[in-house]
Amino acid sequence: MGPQTADVLIVGAGVIGASIAFHLTRLGIKPLLVEKSDPAAGSSGACDGLVFLQSKKPGLHLKLALESRKRFDSLVDQLGSRIEFKNPGGLCLIESESELAAMQLFVAEQRTSGLDVELIDGDEARRREPCLSRKVIAATFSALDSQVNPYALTFAFLRAAESAGARILTGVEVKGIEVASSKATGIFTENRRIGASVVVNAAGALAAEVGRLAGLEIPVTPRRGQILVTAAVPPLLRHCLISAQYVAAKFKPELAATGGMGFSLEQADSGNILIGSTREFVGFDRRTTFDGIRTIASRIAPVIPALKNVPVIRTFGGLRPYTPDGLPILGKVAGLEGFIMAAGHEGDGIALSAITGELIADLIVTGRTQFPLDAFRLERFLEGAA
Ligand SMILES: Cc1cc2nc3c(=O)[nH]c(=O)nc-3n(C[C@H](O)[C@H](O)[C@H](O)COP(=O)(O)OP(=O)(O)OC[C@H]3O[C@@H](n4cnc5c(N)ncnc54)[C@H](O)[C@@H]3O)c2cc1C
Repeated sequence: MGPQTADVLIVGAGVIGASIAFHLTRLGIKPLLVEKSDPAAGSSGACDGLVFLQSKKPGLHLKLALESRKRFDSLVDQLGSRIEFKNPGGLCLIESESELAAMQLFVAEQRTSGLDVELIDGDEARRREPCLSRKVIAATFSALDSQVNPYALTFAFLRAAESAGARILTGVEVKGIEVASSKATGIFTENRRIGASVVVNAAGALAAEVGRLAGLEIPVTPRRGQILVTAAVPPLLRHCLISAQYVAAKFKPELAATGGMGFSLEQADSGNILIGSTREFVGFDRRTTFDGIRTIASRIAPVIPALKNVPVIRTFGGLRPYTPDGLPILGKVAGLEGFIMAAGHEGDGIALSAITGELIADLIVTGRTQFPLDAFRLERFLEGAA
């Protein structure tokens, strides 16, 4: 039959719901996660694993990411399972003079937000990362950029939460949210009600649908990314890599005047290289397309010639939970007591999972957070602040 009530009920067992559950158990709360499919069946199991700082928008976004990155070092011990976290540092590759000019400005903004980032020339970039071709004329480097296995991370959060008393219902869709006197008091599944003092919307790209169940308009839409995975090869990449156009494609189209598509690369412990990714608004269609995959592959080969003859063994698509201003939606919702938002992390949910889980757990248990959540509230969209 399963539980009839929960102190805290979390909708969605992706990396965000899982991290919130883990952090709640550390504060003595035993939450219930309700997942319509399997853990990590959404974006958290269909993405890269970059814990990258250089790709974050200077300002609040980058500051939040820095806080999250700090926590990854201790997470490895706290979670007690292997999450393949490593900290090789990251290079952002610059391929044209116009990108270089734009990145010089961007680096200045990043430094103002507290990121230690350095601009190096093409030869220095090749000295540090010998697989790069002469197409790379310069690069920016941050020693903090890291990577993790997103799937392993999600399951590690869940296992640690479960062993501390959290419960997980899989294959159970939340179909209704019970609201009484402007307060969320539980959820409805296909065939029953589960009462809860607090309901957390951690439904990722589906957060708008879950919000609608409570009468809320939540501006989260799916933004597809396609990724290709190469055969395992001996260690080739010394760093995680992104292109300057990746930064541009994400939130500053004016950064790169050359057009084209940005890319990211990371080599997993298994030796496979993940190469991403497109950014497309195509609804909930997670399929890959020949055009998307061909575009990514043709962008990589001139920059890393050694990859030209490495076979691609798999491709997949995932849906980023996109918000209009690129920031997640976190915290309480005005006019609906007991309902907490934790969604809309776009292409950064893995990197931001550690801090998101901690902040939401603190908010629920103590009513206070170490990092102010005002700028992340749902109401910013209603107030026209986006
Ligand atoms: C191609 C691509 C590359 C990316 N690369 C990176 C990267 O390198 N670094 C990074 O930090 N981030 C990256 N991301 C972003 C990252 O994957 C997401 O931000 C993150 O996974 C979002 O986690 P989530 O828990 O919010 O959502 P999800 O993982 O989607 O979890 C939400 C869960 O809620 C469940 N759910 C939804 N509705 C209901 C319901 N009604 N009832 C019950 N359950 C429900 C879903 O089944 C799902 O399991 C990438 C994303 C993509 C697509």
